[in-house]
Amino acid sequence: MQTYNLALFLCEAVIYFAVMTTFLHFRRQLGLGVFLAALGVMHFMETYLAAVFYIELPFGTVSPGSSVFFAGKLMMILLLYLKEDAAIVRQPIYGLFLGNLVTVGIAQFLRLHESVALPGGRPVDIGFLNEMGWLMVWGTALLYVDAIGIILLYERLGRILPGNLVLRFALSGAALLTFDQIGFYAALNILFDAPVSVFFGGWIAKLLAVALYSLLFGVYQRVEHTPQLRRSRRGITDIFNDLTFRERYQALLAKSGVDVLTGVFDRRRLEEDAPRLMRDCLERGRSFSLAIIDADHFKEVNDLFGHLKGDEVLKEVAARLRAGSRPSDHLSRFGGEEFVLILPDTGHDGALRLAERLRNDIGSSVIRPDGQRVTVSIGVATAPEDGRVFDALLGFADERLYRAKKDGRDNVHGRLGRLVSPGTAAGMAD
Ligand code: GH3
Ligand code: MG
Ligand code: MG
Repeated sequence: MQTYNLALFLCEAVIYFAVMTTFLHFRRQLGLGVFLAALGVMHFMETYLAAVFYIELPFGTVSPGSSVFFAGKLMMILLLYLKEDAAIVRQPIYGLFLGNLVTVGIAQFLRLHESVALPGGRPVDIGFLNEMGWLMVWGTALLYVDAIGIILLYERLGRILPGNLVLRFALSGAALLTFDQIGFYAALNILFDAPVSVFFGGWIAKLLAVALYSLLFGVYQRVEHTPQLRRSRRGITDIFNDLTFRERYQALLAKSGVDVLTGVFDRRRLEEDAPRLMRDCLERGRSFSLAIIDADHFKEVNDLFGHLKGDEVLKEVAARLRAGSRPSDHLSRFGGEEFVLILPDTGHDGALRLAERLRNDIGSSVIRPDGQRVTVSIGVATAPEDGRVFDALLGFADERLYRAKKDGRDNVHGRLGRLVSPGTAAGMAD
């Protein structure tokens, strides 16, 4: 009987892991909400089972709720952190924490009801609601500490065991589940005089689940085509601050992909978004253009008027670029005083016209403190003519920007060389 139970137990763990990892893996296609909602539903199942359902395994009496599903949930939280980051994973951590508190609160009201008999003469069962007391509040607090702890420990272990992902995954899981078991058993012992066999049975079951999950995680790592999961180089305190919503405003902005000085997207965001925007365009058979815009003699602005004034001018340039482009365009700060403007559904001529308009606009409205005009040079490239790979496109635009600089600055260069007058790309060969 115990072996039969054990086999079922292992099946449950495999199914849990397989389904949840699938939701997580396809989060871009399905939306992360599918994974998160499933995590919440499984969390309910776990709580319910832990209250009312126990089985005999070779090493003691355990609840599949607290071993399969609780261990699974913590491992999924860690896996989500590995795939995304602290700012994402704190959402389910806080959602589960606050949701649990609300559940406990509402349960107190539910217990006040006069309930009616169930059809078919089944007895009313409020065993589950009765469990929703202080023990549940304690478990909720532990869960919060566990979830944050497993991530911080995983990062800590990264300093000692860099590269050994599966082992770190297993060790942090085992350590936090041990901590949880001690914490929860202490409460059980104080409140209900639970014998020590309850501790060991549950503990071994949790460790068994972690071992299985780590094994499956290893398999997943192998079949997944991105061999290196994101490796964090950030300090533990930093990660902790993010996990607990204590990050600074600027860090938040940086994470959202927005450049702090100019308010346009930052380079990381460009690199994330651009290949996808480009692919979408090309798949629909549309053109996709890109312009690199670089301020002319900008060093001079800094040298003459100081960096702060330089920053002001840079903000103005960004504001002009933003005002002059469409909402569907994607403007980012590529480097110091260089911007990249992505123009989906735009052919080369259209992109040159827009670039020319922007050049004109900036040249006639952005002024240095000494009254001189601030000008920009622009290089433009277009897919599919210039290639179907984003980096190649960027390379062409950059090369044309370089030519625009050599050609006296304050002008636009495209495939056919310098843009002579708005709307016509003509002149020298590229
Ligand atoms: P050109 O592009 O016309 O060849 O000349 P440039 O002087 O603009 O040369 P380059 O693009 O190589 O130099 C970029 C300068 O921009 C260097 C630096 O002083 C300034 N810069 C870069 N980032 C910032 C910034 O964030 N704030 C300010 N104020 N200046 C910056
Ligand atoms: Mg420049
Ligand atoms: Mg530059």
